[in-house]
Amino acid sequence: MSRFFSQKYSRLTPYTPGEQPKDMKYVKLNTNESPYPPSKEVYEAVMEEAKKLHLYSDPECSVLTQKIADRYGVSKDMVLVTNGSDEILNFAFMAFCDSKRGIAFADITYGFYSVFADLNGIPYKIISLKDDFTIDPGDYYDLEENIVIANPNAPTGIALSRAEIEALVKKNPERVVIIDEAYVDFGGESCVDLVKKYDNLLVTMTFSKSRSMAGGRIGFGIGSADLISDLNTIKYSTNPYNVNRISQVAGACAIDNDEYYMSNAKEIIKNREYTKKRLEELGFEVLNSSANFLFAKSDKISGQDLYLKLKSKGVLVRHFTKEKIKDFNRITIGTRDQMDILIEKIICILEEEK
Ligand code: PMP
Repeated sequence: MSRFFSQKYSRLTPYTPGEQPKDMKYVKLNTNESPYPPSKEVYEAVMEEAKKLHLYSDPECSVLTQKIADRYGVSKDMVLVTNGSDEILNFAFMAFCDSKRGIAFADITYGFYSVFADLNGIPYKIISLKDDFTIDPGDYYDLEENIVIANPNAPTGIALSRAEIEALVKKNPERVVIIDEAYVDFGGESCVDLVKKYDNLLVTMTFSKSRSMAGGRIGFGIGSADLISDLNTIKYSTNPYNVNRISQVAGACAIDNDEYYMSNAKEIIKNREYTKKRLEELGFEVLNSSANFLFAKSDKISGQDLYLKLKSKGVLVRHFTKEKIKDFNRITIGTRDQMDILIEKIICILEEEK
């Protein structure tokens, strides 16, 4: 830390992204990316747009915003596009929370929520998952704080139903409820249509998972025009050109190619169920996932050892050191071939453990 670093950030522990090692080529199942490349049309649109890189991007993201609005059946002023959904989450923390209005979230959930809260000096209430790693929606009724819930949750993959989300949105009419639907296309029930009914609901989504564009950094939020207007105030006060022009055209084209991406998501769901079955045959406990990853543990090997041994054999998964989940690993679902390699390596490791 330099002697110039602001005191207010001196105790901040930044978010740790999944590792991106360069030492060898891994079967990369650690950051929930899609194994499928962007569509051919996206690639061509990006090449064409590159000719205009000397010009600023459209700060309103007009074309992409309209396409997202049409895709999700809302008006354009109910959508804000950002640089990944991490950015809209941070904007929402900035816009709706402060030292007096905190935020509530689960003890086991997306690790960035506590970082955004710390970054912005926002107190938070941590609500424990039940012993089976599910969220009890009743724990979120009538809270003092705003609420953020990843649905499906990460890293568990477990989802709440739309009805359960609606109940808790209804029970907190004076609180902003943020539902982070980063993984919703892999079997979750979206509550996005509820934004027309509840002005305290903000739904965030991303192009990083089902739309094969983690490197393009596109996220977006859908909520009442008033919520979106507040978020725009934050955006225009931090980075008006937050979404670059290449990503804007790539995103717009990806919406045009929705069928391609949604059929890839279906393939991933199939691979997920296949992998779950294979892991269970090997004695793993695997949580019921509605996401593009599985959360699994074995009583034959510790979570840490399995992670390290898989890494030494060229397969990367994500291990978290938090006590409650340290026995588990989060395994991103890739192609069938990648999942077969994973299973083959696990069989090998379990043999070595005997
Ligand atoms: N929400 C959840 C639950 C996530 O796991 C992630 C991915 N790390 C994000 C949001 C942010 O994704 P992105 O910024 O790539 O849209």
